[in-house]
Amino acid sequence: VSDGGSKKTSRVRVAVRLRPYVSRQDEKGEGPCVRGLDSQNLEIINWRNATETVKYHFDVFHGEQTTQQDVFLSSVKPILPHILNGQNASVFAYGPTGAGKTHTMLGTAEQPGVIPRAVREVFNLVSAKDENEGWDYSIGMSYLEIYNEKVLDLLSPSSQDLPIREDKDKNILIPGLTHTTLSSFSDFDKQFVPATLNRTTASTKLNQRSSRSHAILLIKVVRTQRAITQRQQTGKLYLVDLAGSEDNRRTGNQGIRLKESGAINLSLFTLSKVVDALNSGTAVRVPYRDSKLTRLLQDSLGGSAHSVMITNIAPENKYYFDTFGALNFAAKSKLI
Ligand code: ADP
Ligand code: MG
Repeated sequence: VSDGGSKKTSRVRVAVRLRPYVSRQDEKGEGPCVRGLDSQNLEIINWRNATETVKYHFDVFHGEQTTQQDVFLSSVKPILPHILNGQNASVFAYGPTGAGKTHTMLGTAEQPGVIPRAVREVFNLVSAKDENEGWDYSIGMSYLEIYNEKVLDLLSPSSQDLPIREDKDKNILIPGLTHTTLSSFSDFDKQFVPATLNRTTASTKLNQRSSRSHAILLIKVVRTQRAITQRQQTGKLYLVDLAGSEDNRRTGNQGIRLKESGAINLSLFTLSKVVDALNSGTAVRVPYRDSKLTRLLQDSLGGSAHSVMITNIAPENKYYFDTFGALNFAAKSKLI
């Protein structure tokens, strides 16, 4: 397929997920400020003037009844087979703090999210592979956090800021980052759960920290051809719980908090520019190098990679401005 001679980059699929009310208390307030219209369209309502609504169209709209399984099946499962063929992929949860990013990515024991479902599926796909195709597969993981534009290894909690490098084939590498081989899903679980706790208990104000850092799980599938050549291919899957998209400048943060906000805004702002550039297809330069997050994801976002952004939003009126901001971000990202 010709695309007018420009280098082909795949667009980022954009889904929006509205979470249900989480407390009876909130339900009694005015609202909701978002109304789903169908499986692709929704509108936001300004509660100060209910006639003032704005409509949006996305690849998928997941209403408040949507289950974890629905989200996984529609937005994530279809891209996983590509990882076994040496292609890269990324899944992001975007949106304001409290809107459901961690629920979507991690979930709970009763309602597991995208991460455990995706890892389980990758193991299933590998075991379903036909031996006669002649490849041996190995699955591994790394787990990191970008906090204040620093890259930190969550599998080695004492690690310092790690460098991001690019090899001659344009693969992004992080020298020094822990990479562990996984023998099974339960092996993954055993290593991932404590590392996640590491992340959240590392800070006394755990919610503040987790809403200010980007948590990035990398699942790597390496396959080696059982021929004399021993040809190898690597597919990477990034599963990302982004920092809160709320405008931190509004909340009057100072000092270290303000510095963090600047760093978060830089990464998220750059992510929006990158996604815009990819999806508009007209940008001369995709500004991957302008932040750590986008630099890290450069080989797994755009190009031949498969990407999906799940924008999480909340129904309560108190989220109105953050929801409006998140929808505008996501809607821009949706432009083809
Ligand atoms: P974020 O990570 O974006 O800050 P959370 O995932 O922590 O938000 O969600 C905030 C609260 O809402 C949590 O108590 C979470 O369990 C709940 N929640 C979020 N999404 C859903 C959902 N789809 N169904 C039920 N509860 C949800
Ligand atoms: Mg969270």
